[in-house]
Amino acid sequence: MRYVSTRGNSPVLNFQETMLTGLAPDGGLYVPETVPTLTPDQIARLHLGSYEDAAFTVMWPFVGDTFEEDEFREIIANAYDGFGHVSRAPLKQIDDGQWLLELFHGPTLAFKDFAMQLIGQMFQTVLARTGRRITIVGATSGDTGSAAIEAFRGLDNVDVCILYPHGRVSEVQRRQMSTPTEANVHALAVDGTFDDCQRHLKDMFADIPFRDEVGLAAVNSINWARVMAQIVYYFTSAVALGAPERRVNFCVPTGNFGDIYAGEIARRMGLPIDRLVVATNQNDILDRALRTGEYRTGTVHPSISPSMDIQVSSNFERLLFDAYDRDGNAVAQIMQELRGEGGFTISQGAHQAILEHFASGAVSEDETSARITATLEESAELVCPHTAVGLEVARDHHDIALPTITLATAHPAKFPDAVEAATGIRPPLPNRMADLYDRSERVTRVENDLAAIEDLIREKRTK
Ligand SMILES: *Cc1c(COP(=O)(O)O)cnc(C)c1O
Repeated sequence: MRYVSTRGNSPVLNFQETMLTGLAPDGGLYVPETVPTLTPDQIARLHLGSYEDAAFTVMWPFVGDTFEEDEFREIIANAYDGFGHVSRAPLKQIDDGQWLLELFHGPTLAFKDFAMQLIGQMFQTVLARTGRRITIVGATSGDTGSAAIEAFRGLDNVDVCILYPHGRVSEVQRRQMSTPTEANVHALAVDGTFDDCQRHLKDMFADIPFRDEVGLAAVNSINWARVMAQIVYYFTSAVALGAPERRVNFCVPTGNFGDIYAGEIARRMGLPIDRLVVATNQNDILDRALRTGEYRTGTVHPSISPSMDIQVSSNFERLLFDAYDRDGNAVAQIMQELRGEGGFTISQGAHQAILEHFASGAVSEDETSARITATLEESAELVCPHTAVGLEVARDHHDIALPTITLATAHPAKFPDAVEAATGIRPPLPNRMADLYDRSERVTRVENDLAAIEDLIREKRTK
């Protein structure tokens, strides 16, 4: 498979190069040159095997130039081995025609494990082949950093350094980053905000001598390999409810648009999805963009579903590229408008094209809490606040003729304060990590300064 940039002005790459590069040099995001399709018969047969078998069938067309078949099967097996549920992404009924897709059985209790665990194994295989050594640096407000540390801990040829804002992540998130004992894991607590961390990360990538010296690499949400890994569970869940004969809807709690864009790829691969519903919290830029065609940034308001507190939704650019008939110049132009003027108007044709398959809704803080309470009363399920946002929007968009699958993006124990406030119940951690609060922590505090952070990374790397 060849990959092209959404801004049309970067080299065309194979899968391995796309995964290692992350962001395209023209500032765009890499997407597959063509989307492969599965026949209805291939889709129907996915229910005959395991999650891992389905993962191989769905992802193989994207990676065939980089791995051998057996090698890729082993990568998948290793990636999902550490999950706490044998079916990996179980589906649970929550109401008439309403289903929850539980994506929180991975090692850090959020859906990001599906992609990050796979990427860890793929990086390891590729690096072993080339003898290269890299340093993965990420900035996190919580879930991505813990997922990256879990995925890369103890792997050869990789150091992983995660910057997070000191005092501004939840205790579970911090402990997931600070308790792994492997020498290649480094949790760096920056005396600043998440935006400071992200800015330092960007500046580090622009510092070419530093970048080359440490072999800097990124696994942030714009990496194509992350989108790819998330396509799989759209297939397995829809097939469990009768696809391809029966159509389904998905409702997806959304921030950076990575997870729901994976659903769009599944649809284009041939999965009969009727509607992809974007669910946002009070940071509703995507809901406004879909309803009005105006994409305008505002200020971020912290919410009880913090993993969706975003101002700019980076993966939305991939959908725009398709909606603008893959015209990279047009995308480059609106992205320049976004930078210069804080927003842009989606062309009428592109807006219409998007609305053929997408719908959206936004949920307030009170509605989120009320949905957590109601879900416990009606269905005896404790859900995390992100999932509650999805369930609330799914009710508004429910089509009695079609099943709706809402993605449960995190385990309730990852956000215990919001769940307890809504229900009076403090959700316990799963048994396999019940001792998280007892393990000793290892964090390095660092001042809010690029040079200081770069020095620390040089010093921390295992040589
Ligand atoms: C990252 C995250 C989201 C948002 O996913 P995107 O791919 O950024 O849209 C939603 N819920 C949880 C729990 C997350 O960690």
